Amino acid sequence: MTIEININDLIRTRMTEIAEAAWRNHRVLPTADGEGRVLQIGSAATVERWVCGADHGSGVCGEALLTHRQAAELLGMFNVDEPVLDPQLPVTDVDLLDEGVGGFTCGSLYHLSDVRREFEKAQG
Ligand SMILES: [Zn+2]
Repeated sequence: MTIEININDLIRTRMTEIAEAAWRNHRVLPTADGEGRVLQIGSAATVERWVCGADHGSGVCGEALLTHRQAAELLGMFNVDEPVLDPQLPVTDVDLLDEGVGGFTCGSLYHLSDVRREFEKAQG
């Protein structure tokens, strides 16, 4: 008997588990394939992959959340450890599929408004 392990199935299963845990623990949701909004800051743009469903005190947030990598890319500082220095809204840690690494790594999600504020600060 051979046991076949389909890596795509494993990844899909893991991503489902991560999505469920993220919602349960943090009220954040991954965006369905092809349904992410285009997020633009300055001349850079990226596609929304996570959305916040938490209530920070004034109803459901609904803001796009950016991964560390997305935030750093939009801000034009790819290798900086901390793309948003003074976030006004909670930063959420989730396991993210890192295609560069080929596995899951723990990453942070930043609210779009915080990344935008950071960008505006950098513009002076
Ligand atoms: Zn939020």
